Amino acid sequence: TEKQQLLENFSVKERLEKVIEFLNREVNVLDIERTISIKTQKRFEDQMRKAMLREKRRTIDEELGEEDGISSDDEIGDYKAKVKKAKMPKEVAKKAKKEVKRLNQLSPHNPEGAYIRNYLDWLVEMPWSILSDNDVSIAKASKVLNRDHYGIEKAKERILEYLAVMKLKKGETKSQPTILCFIGPPGVGKTSIGKSIARSLGRKFVRVSLGGIRDEAEIRGHRRTYVGALPGRIIQGIKDAGTRNPVFMLDEIDKLGVDFRGDPSSALLEALDPEQNKEFSDHYLEVPFDLSEVVFIATGNILDTVPAPLRDRMEVIKFPGYTEEEKFHIAKVFLWPKQLGLHGLGGKKITIDDQAIREIISRYTREAGVRDLERNLATLCRKVARQVAEKKRHQSKIAASSIKKLLGPRKFSSLLAEKKDEVGMSTGLSVTPAGGEIIFIEVALMPGKGKLTLTGQLGDVMKESVKAAFTWSKAHWHVLGLKEEFAKGIDVHVHVPEGAVPKDGPSAGVAMATALISALTNIAVEREVGMTGELTLRGRVLEIGGVKEKVIAAHRAGLKTIILPKENKKDLVDIPEAVKRDIKFVFASQLDDVLKVAMKAWPPVNLSNRRKYSPSRPSFLAN
Ligand code: ADP
Repeated sequence: TEKQQLLENFSVKERLEKVIEFLNREVNVLDIERTISIKTQKRFEDQMRKAMLREKRRTIDEELGEEDGISSDDEIGDYKAKVKKAKMPKEVAKKAKKEVKRLNQLSPHNPEGAYIRNYLDWLVEMPWSILSDNDVSIAKASKVLNRDHYGIEKAKERILEYLAVMKLKKGETKSQPTILCFIGPPGVGKTSIGKSIARSLGRKFVRVSLGGIRDEAEIRGHRRTYVGALPGRIIQGIKDAGTRNPVFMLDEIDKLGVDFRGDPSSALLEALDPEQNKEFSDHYLEVPFDLSEVVFIATGNILDTVPAPLRDRMEVIKFPGYTEEEKFHIAKVFLWPKQLGLHGLGGKKITIDDQAIREIISRYTREAGVRDLERNLATLCRKVARQVAEKKRHQSKIAASSIKKLLGPRKFSSLLAEKKDEVGMSTGLSVTPAGGEIIFIEVALMPGKGKLTLTGQLGDVMKESVKAAFTWSKAHWHVLGLKEEFAKGIDVHVHVPEGAVPKDGPSAGVAMATALISALTNIAVEREVGMTGELTLRGRVLEIGGVKEKVIAAHRAGLKTIILPKENKKDLVDIPEAVKRDIKFVFASQLDDVLKVAMKAWPPVNLSNRRKYSPSRPSFLAN
C-alpha cells in the first residue's frame, strides 16, 4: 500500500516528503530493535554467569561433604537419636533404621531423599509409647459430666456405665467394650460431652471430621509411592494428640460416602474393631500402629445413613434435643457465664433477665440444640463489650424489653397455634438431621382424570404412602360421603413445603391421608393437632421411630394435641414431664381414630348410613 501511495503521487516534492516520512519510521524501528537485542544479550550473559557460579559452589560443597549448611553426617546422627528416643516397637525401629541407612547412602541430589526424610519425620513423631495417665475414676467422671452439662441424664448414665466397664476390663487384651456413637441434631452437646469424657479420664482429645470422605485412602493413607502421599486421618489425629490413648472423636460418621476409590467404612471398621486395631495398618506408615488404647467416639446427626456394619459395632447413645425449659437452664447456668468470660466481661457483673432468655429462645431461635441460642447470647455480649470498651455507661442488666434493640426484629414472629384451621392442610411430625420438625402437608384438588401429582422433593417411600392414602380414599368413598367413582373427575396435587428440602420416610402417611381426606370432604383439619404414623392400605396405623424428637419439636411449635400410633405408647416414658403437661396425647390404631381427633366435623356421613352400606357384587367376579 505504501509503495502504491508513492507511485500514485506525481508531485516530486510531495513524493519526497512521503519517502522521508517512511524512512524516518524505519530508522526508529531499527533503533528500538537494536536496544532490545543489546539488553537481551546482557541478561543472558548475566544468567550464564550465575549458573556457572552456582555449579562451582555445588562442586565445592560436594568436595566438603556439606549441603544447605547441614552436614549430612549430622542429619543422619540426628535421625538415629530421634529413632532411639521415640521408643518404637522392635520391628518399627528396624524399619526406621533401614530408612536412615538408605538416606545415608543416597546422593544428596537424589530427589528421593525428600520422601525418605518426610517418612522418617512421621515415624519418629508418632507417639509410639506415650500414654496419658490411665486412671478411670467413676466418681470424678460423674462430677465432671454433671458440672459441664445440664440434663441429658440418660446419656450421662450410659457414658458412666461405659467407663465402669472400661475400668473393670483394664489390662485385658481386648480392653475396649464397644465404640460409643452419639446421635443427635447439631448443638445438643455431643462434642462437648466428648471433651468432658477426655477431661474426666485425664486424656487428650482429638476430633476428626469424616463428612464427605469417599476415598479409603483418606482414612488409611496413601501408599508412599504417590507424590505428596500422607498418612490417613486416623494416624494424623493420633500424631496431633501426641499420645497413644486419646479420646478420639470421629465426627459426621453419617456422612461417609462410598465410590470407586474404595469404601472408607471398611477401613474405619478395622480401626474401630478391638480385635484388629492392635495392629492398625496405614498405607503410608507401612508399619502397624496400636490403636487399642484409644477411646473412639463417633458422632452423627441421623442413624439411618451410618453404614450398617459400623452401626453393629457401636453402642448408640441418642441426644434427642432440648425442651424450652432445658434450654432456659442451659442458657442461664452454662452459656451466659461462658459467653461473658469469652468476651472479656467475666469480671463485670452483667446479668440477663429470665424473661429475656425466654424471649430469645422462642422468638430468635428454632432449633433442637442450643447453637443459635449461644450465638445470640454471644451477640448480646459483643454489644455490651463495645459499650464497656468505649467507656460509655454500659448495661448491667439485660431486660426482655431491650432484646429487640440489641438483636434486631424477632426472627420467628408467630407460633403455629396462632394460625387458623384450613381444609386440605394437615400438620405432620418428622425427624430431620437438624432434629425433630413439624411439616405441613398441602393438598389441592382440581377437575381432571384421577392424576396424582407430588411435589416438595419427596422420597420414594413418602410418595408411596401418598399413593396408599389415595387408594384408601378411593376404596372408602362411601365412608367419606363421596360418589363411587369420584376420583375419575379430579386431579390431586400433594405438596410438602419447604420444597427445597428432601424428605422421606413412611411416618408421614397418616398426615398425608388426613390432608387428602380433608380436601375431599371439605372439612377443615385442626392446626394444633400434630400427627405421625405409618398408614397401611387397610387404614391401620403402624409404629414409627423418633417419638421424643417429634414430640419436643411439636411442643416447641406450640401444638396442643399429638396423635401417635398405639404401639408407640411405650415411648412416652422418655418425654420430659414439662412437655407431657402441655400436650394431650391420643393413640390411634386405625385411620378413623386419627380423623375423629383431627377434624371437628368428623364423620361427614351419618354413622347409621355407614353401617347400612353393603357393596354390590363387583362385576369382574365370575358368577
Ligand atoms: P454438637 O457437637 O452436638 O453439635 P456442641 O457440643 O458443639 O454440639 O454444643 C454446642 C454448645 O452448647 C457448646 O458450647 C456446649 O457446651 C453447649 N451445650 C450443649 N448441651 C449442653 C448442656 N446440656 N449443658 C450445658 N451446655 C451445653
